Amino acid sequence: MADKFREECGVVAVYGHPEASNLAYLGLYALQHRGQESAGMASSDGRHVYCVKEMGYVADVFTPERLATLPGTMAIAHTRYSTAGEVDLQNAQPFAVSCNKGTIAVAHNGNLTNAAELRRELEREGAIFQASSDTEVVLHLVARSRERTIAGALREALLQMEGAFSLVFLAQDRVIVARDPQGFRPLVMGQMELSGGKKCYVFASETCAFDLIGAVYMNEVEPGEMVIAGPEGLTRERYVPQQPRAQCVFEHVYFSRPDSIVFGRSVQESRHMMGRLLARESPVPADVVVPVPDSGVAAAIGFAAESGLPFRHGLIRSHYIGRTFIEPTQAIRDFGVKLKLNPVRNLLDGKRVVLVDDSIVRGTTSRKIVRMVRQAGAREVHMRISCPPTISPCFYGVDTPTKGELIAANNTVEEIRRFLDADSLAFLSMEALREAVGDTRHEYCYACYTGEYPTELVNITELVRGRYRRS
Ligand code: AMP
Repeated sequence: MADKFREECGVVAVYGHPEASNLAYLGLYALQHRGQESAGMASSDGRHVYCVKEMGYVADVFTPERLATLPGTMAIAHTRYSTAGEVDLQNAQPFAVSCNKGTIAVAHNGNLTNAAELRRELEREGAIFQASSDTEVVLHLVARSRERTIAGALREALLQMEGAFSLVFLAQDRVIVARDPQGFRPLVMGQMELSGGKKCYVFASETCAFDLIGAVYMNEVEPGEMVIAGPEGLTRERYVPQQPRAQCVFEHVYFSRPDSIVFGRSVQESRHMMGRLLARESPVPADVVVPVPDSGVAAAIGFAAESGLPFRHGLIRSHYIGRTFIEPTQAIRDFGVKLKLNPVRNLLDGKRVVLVDDSIVRGTTSRKIVRMVRQAGAREVHMRISCPPTISPCFYGVDTPTKGELIAANNTVEEIRRFLDADSLAFLSMEALREAVGDTRHEYCYACYTGEYPTELVNITELVRGRYRRS
């Protein structure tokens, strides 16, 4: 339910459409759930690169007046959320610079695990940074490359980067996108037919962006692949030898929209299966299954289907809370949660409730929700979580808190149950999660549940302290 520590990003790119910036805007609009702090776009008309970025929601940033300042047939766009303290326009994306390769702009979803090292090296050689985000590092690497072509310079930069990155890149006459060798973060490509048989290519973090603009989903940008859309057409190349995949399982658990296809698989289908397997593994005598909206809905439907218990919307979510809302300083207990959720008393009163949510991170929100359901008259509250306990922070672009703040890193399931004041608590097993996402070939990263990271983590102290923010 909570948005408080979300720090993902969403990216979009459009090549070859007379209304590129309008399309990128709509695509970004569909990716608003991936970041709500700032939004930005760079476009090119073949001669100049234009850039607009502002703090705020996509719909507020891109007024018709601002969109009118983004002409051309190519555009890249980005929406971002970062934690408090790092909330500033300087870190908003895309980043654009002029260098010996012309004006170039880049936007990035992910987290470079060697950003601090690269940055120190670049600074030693005289590079000046304006922001604290990893993404600027990418731009400097490209700008200082001796390669003569943009694609060559980008290839060289990509080979120096470690960690998670799905990148969209704009030059005067082309759009280039790339994904890290292990494919942590998603990136998909699609196309649109224009009149006269011309093709427009689109790229986005999730396929829901294509649905809105009427583009046809083609396939994923492969891990370790660079795709160039330019005057000569579409070129796909592997810039690095194939490596084992490490796709972020949390995209299927929580981040992505259920109407998206992510890593070639329907998110809705994965969540439904998580719910089914959860009901099989941890059944409980009860009267109703209630989701924590919106994050628990798909899994709760699966749980209800498997258990034969009725599914009820016993918690109603308000969708209209603006970020400008000021909480009263005289703390009204649970105010934040009450603003977002309200229980439906006549569905809960006297009932034994199975409450389904996707995850427990700090436990504070879940505790408030359990209390809210009890106050609405529930006789019993059984919490069911559609993933394993979150025990380790993510260094690949999901903003989980430090180990110290992760309740499951420091408490047993029974201790968490007591903290939540639930009658019972169960998490999905690792085996079931693997099965739910169809991971027969070991292609997912589960580090937040296992503590086993699929890459070497350089500068771990800096990563933990979050000096160089994820984007
Ligand atoms: P809590 O009980 O305080 O740990 O909060 C759990 C809620 O946070 C669940 O409803 C999750 O859907 C939500 N959640 C989990 N991970 C994240 C994340 N990275 N960003 C935002 N919300 C999250």
